[in-house]
Amino acid sequence: MGRDPVEREVIWHELYSATRDFGQKGPYIDAMSAIDIALWDIAGQAVGEPVSRLLGGCFRSSVAAYATGCYYRGKEYLSGAPEEFAAEALGYRKAGFQMLKMKVGLLEVGRDLERVAAVREAIGPECALMVDANHAYNSATAVRMARGLERLGVRWFEEPVPPEDRDGYRTVRRASSVPIAGGECEYTRYGFRDLIAGGCVDIAQPDLCAAGGFSEWLKIVALAESFGVWVIPHVWGSGVALAAALHALAALPPFPHTANPIPLENEPVVEFDRNPNPLRDELLEQPIRCGGDGRVRVPEGPGLGIRIDTAVLRRYATLVAA
Ligand code: CA
Repeated sequence: MGRDPVEREVIWHELYSATRDFGQKGPYIDAMSAIDIALWDIAGQAVGEPVSRLLGGCFRSSVAAYATGCYYRGKEYLSGAPEEFAAEALGYRKAGFQMLKMKVGLLEVGRDLERVAAVREAIGPECALMVDANHAYNSATAVRMARGLERLGVRWFEEPVPPEDRDGYRTVRRASSVPIAGGECEYTRYGFRDLIAGGCVDIAQPDLCAAGGFSEWLKIVALAESFGVWVIPHVWGSGVALAAALHALAALPPFPHTANPIPLENEPVVEFDRNPNPLRDELLEQPIRCGGDGRVRVPEGPGLGIRIDTAVLRRYATLVAA
């Protein structure tokens, strides 16, 4: 309170240093991320420019989106037939998505691979498929999974092992040609330094709302680029989170630059969760939608380019300042 909001780097360092003894990861950095994102929004509004332009300018005005879906839903769904997941996946395909990410990790490897195979079959060879284990495996089981996923042409294997298990990440990464992704449970440049320099991932996935906001995002991207690691953000939660990710993605260079960048080859993509979430779909006056071409437009107004529907905010808030 009472600070100059444009001094976001100074504020970031003060907040981080003030809690060095106890707040280097977890909810405190989440909260700092929220403040940092708000400061970038204010800075953009102050000069009438979108955050994407403050970050260095737009490599793209829209981003190819992948649908995140095909979750396990309760005990009945755990025993559900692969066809049920295939039907859900086909729905995303019909809605225009050309990429899809599904969950694995709660069933025996063979049964989960049957589900992945059923989805693969349903969406066809033109649609890219990724899988996410949410750190469900030890490294030996993850290696078995990775080899099965390799045969199904899966484009990345996300969080195969717990984030603390750096050796496990390296073991899984060496065991197949499927790119390994991870980072949604990691924080700040220091956490990503270990993931990136440690050779743990092909794709680092910082979440703008957890890893330290836009200020820290820029440092993580520079670190990853210097080690030849791609950055594609993890995106979750509210419409604000989605807007922040789109601005970061707009300003993210192709990896590497070519005359014809292709999504998932060298052009970044945005995670577009398809689970019910009113904070994503109702919180913004103009909700962010995916077009029938499978792309999401980057908001164009000053700052984050969004406006909060305060009535919706009050409906879902547990505490709203006067
Ligand atoms: Ca994930």
